Amino acid sequence: MDRNYTVTRFVTDIPVDELISKYFDYSKTHELCKACSGYAGTWACPPFDFEPEDFLRQFSVFHLIVDRIDNSGTANVDEAQDRLFTEKDRYDAEMLELEKATPGSYGMAAQECVQCKKCARLSGHPCVHPDKMRYSLESIGAFPVKLVHDKFGFDILWSDGESIPEYYLLVAGLLKK
Ligand code: SF4
Repeated sequence: MDRNYTVTRFVTDIPVDELISKYFDYSKTHELCKACSGYAGTWACPPFDFEPEDFLRQFSVFHLIVDRIDNSGTANVDEAQDRLFTEKDRYDAEMLELEKATPGSYGMAAQECVQCKKCARLSGHPCVHPDKMRYSLESIGAFPVKLVHDKFGFDILWSDGESIPEYYLLVAGLLKK
């Protein structure tokens, strides 16, 4: 992929026991999700018909992969967002490839599922791309902000709608048996 900006990758392995004991509380994240306008907006979002902790406990290690996307050179907030969305598509596709190459693994998505223009859930139908739909850390009950800060020493940044943060982050990775 040709770029005129920098994407820096940070990786580390975290035992799933540690992920759950230090960085997971589905009851809390679910309450936060309920306040979101996108709540139940895709099949990758809560509420679920399974226990997220049981889902995570199928695996033993979480291979955390963080891509830090430099926003320098972007002319405005929209341009920075477009850069992020381009990188998210690339990142999510890469997690699916990693999953394919790693038997028994699960490649998580960075943030929400954007595979369809309008999710089938909104019209009461099953997911049309279960081969591509993947849960994110946030949706499944984990806290990426604390995870990234503890493991790598920097923070997730957001725009206030007018300012362009120094960088954006894509935070997800691979759950492994
Ligand atoms: S793949 Fe499409 S139908 Fe499935 S959760 Fe994502 S947006 Fe919804």
